[in-house]
Amino acid sequence: MAKIAMNYCLTPGCFKPCNPDSARFCYSCGAKLLLKERYRPIQPLGSGGFGKTFLAVDEDIPDKPYCVIKQLYLENPDIGFRKKATELFYQEAVRLGELGKHPQIPTLLAHFQQNRQLYLLQEWIAGDTLQQQSRALWLQCSDANLRRSRWRVS
Ligand SMILES: [Zn+2]
Repeated sequence: MAKIAMNYCLTPGCFKPCNPDSARFCYSCGAKLLLKERYRPIQPLGSGGFGKTFLAVDEDIPDKPYCVIKQLYLENPDIGFRKKATELFYQEAVRLGELGKHPQIPTLLAHFQQNRQLYLLQEWIAGDTLQQQSRALWLQCSDANLRRSRWRVS
């Protein structure tokens, strides 16, 4: 797969998120485009009420492999909602960390909070289509979904 020469802004609601390859800051909202000075988002994979997933490139590794960014919004004014969403997010990070290396399950690369959003970084599994990836990797922010996916992988 040819590398996509683009920088995609991660700011929720950014008016023009597509930026040229050379940009370091979003031309539209001014946000820094590299996540953790390292991960360059290049295109969105999916979105929902809780957040978004993006295809990204890891700029710190010589052959610049693809990875997947999951972004969880923390801007909902409901404190209960934010608490629950954060909890589920960390549960998922712990679960992915525990699963470790498996050919069908993306390895957890990092999880952290930045600019009032939570991020999960996962390995990109080559061979899948973007659609399969975005379905498989979509944020599982409900108890039912968490249970279902736990059952599926055990
Ligand atoms: Zn922007």
